[in-house]
Amino acid sequence: MKKWVFCLLVLLVLSYAFVKFKASDLSIIPLHKITLTEENSPTPTDRGFTIKVTQEQVYQGDLLLVNQDHPVPDQGPAEEAVSLAQHRELLQGFSVLDNTVRLSERLAGKLAEMVAAAGEDGVNHFLITSGYRDEQRQDELYRQMGAEYAMPAGYSEHNLGLSLDIGSSQAEMNVAPEGQWLKENAWRYGFVLRYPENKTAVTGIQYEPWHFRYVGLPHSAIMQKNDMVLEEYLDYLKDKQAVKVEVNGQTYQVFYFPVTDDGTIRVPAEGSYEISGNNRDGVVVTVHEE
Ligand SMILES: [Zn+2]
Repeated sequence: MKKWVFCLLVLLVLSYAFVKFKASDLSIIPLHKITLTEENSPTPTDRGFTIKVTQEQVYQGDLLLVNQDHPVPDQGPAEEAVSLAQHRELLQGFSVLDNTVRLSERLAGKLAEMVAAAGEDGVNHFLITSGYRDEQRQDELYRQMGAEYAMPAGYSEHNLGLSLDIGSSQAEMNVAPEGQWLKENAWRYGFVLRYPENKTAVTGIQYEPWHFRYVGLPHSAIMQKNDMVLEEYLDYLKDKQAVKVEVNGQTYQVFYFPVTDDGTIRVPAEGSYEISGNNRDGVVVTVHEE
């Protein structure tokens, strides 16, 4: 064989392999319409704003950590939870087990948005079995079911009002299409699977394919990308102090600030912001650049 023919063949084989690799790479992208880029130390800037924070704010917001070491703060949930069965206008695309299932109107709205998206994918048998539980209800559950199944009153995320148990009317959640869809997509709507199978050592809670927690965007996206549960995510923010992230073409900067006393903090970014405590020692400020 002539040398140039051989070279041409090698080139053809290589370019075929390259194109094939790129194609399989690209075929993944449509599933992940949300792209993330992280920047751990943002470039110093004169831009920014100052906000007043109080110690109370450590115990308010969507990122509060509640587990066996961190009880629900004394003031309880910020929003009133209503019985969904008695507010049928809130039952959008899902059903409830009975009239004891309570959620805040805001959370019911977030849930409706998520299940509407699942419905477009043909997944539409969502059954909500539990939402907000007051401490009395939690106490009953703890006594009836025992420590294996329920946390003592004040230590369950359900007492915080930001968690819900989502089932399927078709099958157990670990095999139901509803469970699979949520596992892959809940983060796009601000929810996270709170007790995944591979994190029982971190959460101290067995795998619960039905228990979802609202943390909001972009936090759910960063947690999903980094395979982190809330315990790990709050540690990560504390360690990095600033994270920049792009989700669906929107840019967010997330900052952690320790709070020991009432005072002011300087946020080195511009845009609209949200603030949440971590229920431990500080606050997370999320700036949405506009
Ligand atoms: Zn639960």
